[in-house]
Amino acid sequence: MKVFVVNCGSSSIKYQLFDMAGEKVLAKGLLERVGRPDAVLHHTVNGTRHERQMGVGDHSAGLKFILDILVDKQAGVIARIDEIEGVGHRVVHGGEQLTQSQLITQDVLQIIRRNAELAPLHNPPNLAGITAAMAALPNTPQVGVFDTAFLASLPPQAYRYAVPGAWYRQYHVRRYGFHGTSHRYVTLRAAEYLGKSPEQVNLVTVHMGNGCSMTAVAGGKAVDHSMGMTPLEGLMMGTRCGDVDPAVIFYMARNASLSMDQLDIALNQQSGLLGVSGVSNDMRDCLAAAQAGNDNAALAVQMFAYRVIKYVGAYYAILPSCDAVVLTGGVGENSLPVRRMICEGLQRLGAAPDAARNQACIGGKAGLITSDGSALKVMVIPTDEELMIARDTRAIVEKTGS
Ligand code: ADP
Repeated sequence: MKVFVVNCGSSSIKYQLFDMAGEKVLAKGLLERVGRPDAVLHHTVNGTRHERQMGVGDHSAGLKFILDILVDKQAGVIARIDEIEGVGHRVVHGGEQLTQSQLITQDVLQIIRRNAELAPLHNPPNLAGITAAMAALPNTPQVGVFDTAFLASLPPQAYRYAVPGAWYRQYHVRRYGFHGTSHRYVTLRAAEYLGKSPEQVNLVTVHMGNGCSMTAVAGGKAVDHSMGMTPLEGLMMGTRCGDVDPAVIFYMARNASLSMDQLDIALNQQSGLLGVSGVSNDMRDCLAAAQAGNDNAALAVQMFAYRVIKYVGAYYAILPSCDAVVLTGGVGENSLPVRRMICEGLQRLGAAPDAARNQACIGGKAGLITSDGSALKVMVIPTDEELMIARDTRAIVEKTGS
């Protein structure tokens, strides 16, 4: 079965086409600058990169452009578009109703539309991608895979905020969490690696990319998570502040005369590694600047690792036991110094850092980065959200017999 996975952002479309026999990626790519006359499509087949440019007015035109290249004589990988038997869509916010992957019906579309209030930057482009795919492939089942779904198992003491109850009941103010597809994928892979069934495994999973989040997993289910009602809470990120005293917001509004929009931009786009280092939101740049003697960059990296260590401590306390701390995402999969700092910071909990193993886990390789006999295992598992979406899509298409 061929499954097409689509991830629409406000001005981009990421995609992968899988042959589920062997879970092989036939083609993948990224269309950038959707909505502009100079859109560019980066399309990769078997390591060969193709680049095409053209004006792409909206997501619907963008998707058509991508579907065309999939059947293109030179850069294509299938003969006909109807070889695609299922389309899997990444949808950021499923809210309290869409708690598992499912076939997209008119009712589901309606709920995703309603949840746009909670994810105004993400759900509208996700919806645009779904409607475009439904129009382009009207006879192909479309499946929604929700970032929030894996976190739907959080108990109320973890998802409620200590704010007036009516805020939750009337305005749905609560922790939803994000990156759930990544946390679910690495949970399954870690269980496999540790020789346990997913229902037996207790983990702390740490996703460190541009956005960063952590999940406490007990018996294979999420029981706490660092991101909140929006992806701003929790760990320090590339440009997002993570945890901050909410009173800072009123203080800066009153004393620096910042508007709500300016505060939103400051905390979402000008904070995190970028805000503290003054150098970059990219961990590689911060590490290089720190190495070259930039104290602000060194502090930013230190704060980033410190907050991960602090959260692991908190999650360790609430879990029945901890089989491993799992690191993933661009930083978790690649950054030896950040991984070393995290392992060293976890020595009080029994982690015994292993420099050679840390060195060996790069380039997409999974493995332990603590020594044999370490009381707390720390491991690296490269994430693969697209594969998770493709697997869910296949399972749902097969189950519904669509
Ligand atoms: P996204 O959240 O956009 O999917 P990624 O998971 O690709 O992002 O992670 C991006 C982050 O990974 C950036 O901060 C980048 O600096 C970091 N990163 C990627 N490769 C390396 C590396 N070799 N060393 C350190 N950091 C890296």
